[in-house]
Amino acid sequence: MPLIKYKIQMKRMIQIITVLLAFIFLLCNCTGRNIIMTVKGPLPEDKMGITLTHEHILVDFIGADQITEERWDRTKVISKVLPYLLEAKNLGCRTFVDCTPEFIGRDPVLLRILADSSALNIITNTGYYGAGDNRYLPQFVFNETAVQLAERWISEWNEGIKGTGIKPGFIKIGVSGDNLSEIHRKLVIAAALTHLKTGLVIASHTGPADLAFEELDILKNEGISPKAFIWVHAQNEKDNENHIRAARMGAWVSFDGLNDNNFNDYLSMIKKIKENKLLNRVLISHDAGWYDPAKENGGDFRGYAVLFEKLVPALKKEGFTEGEISQLLVINPSKAFTIKVHKIKT
Ligand SMILES: [Zn+2]
Repeated sequence: MPLIKYKIQMKRMIQIITVLLAFIFLLCNCTGRNIIMTVKGPLPEDKMGITLTHEHILVDFIGADQITEERWDRTKVISKVLPYLLEAKNLGCRTFVDCTPEFIGRDPVLLRILADSSALNIITNTGYYGAGDNRYLPQFVFNETAVQLAERWISEWNEGIKGTGIKPGFIKIGVSGDNLSEIHRKLVIAAALTHLKTGLVIASHTGPADLAFEELDILKNEGISPKAFIWVHAQNEKDNENHIRAARMGAWVSFDGLNDNNFNDYLSMIKKIKENKLLNRVLISHDAGWYDPAKENGGDFRGYAVLFEKLVPALKKEGFTEGEISQLLVINPSKAFTIKVHKIKT
């Protein structure tokens, strides 16, 4: 074979092998590993880093019958919010979970732009929020069955959200009242059905314990383990024994209203959990942010720094080890948001 032909063939072979190796590398990076779903696509769970598990970029309280994306100017939102995201990133945050549901201002495209410009991993959600007197539920939610609602949420997982190609990384619902109303029960069942088909964790705005246990009962009836459930706003339940009980069952207990004035309360709730050796069931966040398009320049915006600047130093002072702090801020979020169906073992 002439030398020149041999060289060309060798060059082609090397090119093919390089492409093949790159493909295998990509495949290995995500397959066989647990993943979470960000607005920019899947991410191996062990790349999540320190995670704020319950925050907001934008919230619009105008109500489901009037909300549209035209109510806010993305450029203005970005110029207000980006400095706060960068502040959190400089303090060590790597992943940011945006808990604003559809019909209260969920805007996946805005989140993807912010993920690009902040270099944070950002996660969005599917689901509907029934708390707030059902003001954020459009009429069809009342007319459709749980199966039909679940179909809508499952299709966001399969096809992406409204033509954006962006997929949700968890289910967000909201319930309220002394016990679950029929419509809120329907939301929980729809979330359960969606979990079984997608492996997305269910974060439910709940508050007091009675409702949380009612929700866990519904999941049990659907064959789902409490591991698939995040009890959002668990700090509103004042009896620590109920936190312990839910954590023992396997649910995620989310203390997520951290601010400048209450971090000592958070410290004592977390200490109680530690005494019971249940640090592996707790999530901590601020429920901060809240750019409100109805207000001048988005209104008062609360940043995401207290966890890093106040709570972590206080935990260290109380003798929490680096390992325990990493359990709370890195390991627990990665386990909670890993895409996985949690059925009750029979
Ligand atoms: Zn919230």
